Amino acid sequence: MVTAYKHEPLTDFTMGENKLAFMEALKLVNTQLGKDYPLIINGERMTSGEVIASYNPARKTECIGTVSAANKEYAEQAMQAALKAFSVWKKWSPEARAHILLKAAAIIRRRKHEFSAYLVKEAGKPWREADADTAEAIDFLEYYARQMLALKDGAVVNSRAGENNQYTYIPLGVGVIISPFNFPFAIMAGTTVAAIVTGNTVLLKPSNNTPVIAAKFVEVMEEAGLPKGVLNYIPGSGAEIGDFLIDHPKTRFVSFTGSREVGCRIYERAAKVHPGQIWLKRVIAEMGGKDTVVVDEDADIDLAAASIVYSGFGYSGQKCSAGSRAVIHEKIYNQVLEKALTLTKSLKVGNPEEAETYMGPVIDKKAYNKIMNYINIGKTEGRLAAGGEGDQTQGFFIQPTIIADVDEKARIMQEEIFGPVIAFCKAESIDHLLDIANNTEYGLTGAFISKNREHIERVRKEFHVGNLYINRTCTGAIVGYQPFGGFQMSGTDSKAGGPDYLLLHMQAQTISEAL
Ligand code: GLU
Repeated sequence: MVTAYKHEPLTDFTMGENKLAFMEALKLVNTQLGKDYPLIINGERMTSGEVIASYNPARKTECIGTVSAANKEYAEQAMQAALKAFSVWKKWSPEARAHILLKAAAIIRRRKHEFSAYLVKEAGKPWREADADTAEAIDFLEYYARQMLALKDGAVVNSRAGENNQYTYIPLGVGVIISPFNFPFAIMAGTTVAAIVTGNTVLLKPSNNTPVIAAKFVEVMEEAGLPKGVLNYIPGSGAEIGDFLIDHPKTRFVSFTGSREVGCRIYERAAKVHPGQIWLKRVIAEMGGKDTVVVDEDADIDLAAASIVYSGFGYSGQKCSAGSRAVIHEKIYNQVLEKALTLTKSLKVGNPEEAETYMGPVIDKKAYNKIMNYINIGKTEGRLAAGGEGDQTQGFFIQPTIIADVDEKARIMQEEIFGPVIAFCKAESIDHLLDIANNTEYGLTGAFISKNREHIERVRKEFHVGNLYINRTCTGAIVGYQPFGGFQMSGTDSKAGGPDYLLLHMQAQTISEAL
């Protein structure tokens, strides 16, 4: 019997011993920088000759590691390995598959700060965010292991006299996992193990910004006893191997987390049936968001300001869940804005390796340029009230930025920026607040700050987002507690870390025997 699921606690860095342990982990990781990580296909290490170098976004010249890049030939080899492994892995009992996840969670828990230190270096995450990312990776392993145990006997169906009906879930086949840089451990591991524990085999193509942490995770899964060929590690270019694998007739499903643009492209490509393909591919896509913190007329001002600032600037706003819009009742707009500005100016921006840093860099030059461009657009659409400056001499740093007095239809109110920029907008009534809250093409997260019970009940029904939070931030969903995923252009309505998620990786079979 496994114990009941409980989420992994976050580390309290105000305790001296935790702080010291984390500093030790950073030291350890510093001694491991610059290593080369080969492809892993059918358990074999292969060096392709072509490399992807992963750099520290806070210190552009520091190479975290280099990984081999797969080309089409390697991708094909990985597909063949995964197909072969599938014929065996699908017959493993659900319990045995779940045990591997539990073992992997235990391994990661023992070396928790080491993984988090990699996240600090490779993704530019401040300690708190890195620690939360590692904890969430552990949570996905623990939660999906238990979910598989809950689903292993299928669901109850009725039988009439003289028949015996059975309804079970069986795996799909080979899945392509394309994971993002922003939760390079949690989402990469979560999407991978959801596919594996359900009996599928996997081709993992992690973000080219964060491939080293993914290589470390594959090593953990091997150590936990995962058979060869079940998880194949093939970083590479999206245009080359991403498209090749999405088009591949043997690909059974694609699990993607990333931008709306790429998600839509994958969805469309995957819909085409290629010669030799005998199924319709499934796509699980988690895409963008344009998420709002909505502040009601009678809201607690401090709570509203804190919810806005932390939702917008956590991990430099590089979360799909980030609150990049604050929509505030006009009666308290100025007060909330003032408080938010004071709080924003108190945030420590800098090297994420330092314990006190609240906000580090953005991920790379492309992101930096895109965000700075949006800040320029924002300056024409509203009033620059905080931040606005960038500095890319050492790393890709952008100040936490607030653009005030923006129109509800402005571009910075509609388009995903994926950076530390919050647009502030006024509304005149609860109807107006809700109209603006629902006026984007996305539908991922939202927060409502209010003391008015009637309004809270109305917002529960009318704020159309996958994750609605009341009187708190709109980021920080916990696996198994707040299943995560959105509506509309935010994806395919999947809920990571939720009770239905594993079913997306399986197909149901009815077996009826006449007695
Ligand atoms: N699950 C994360 C949160 O609730 C966001 C994940 C993402 O950005 O994709 O903040």
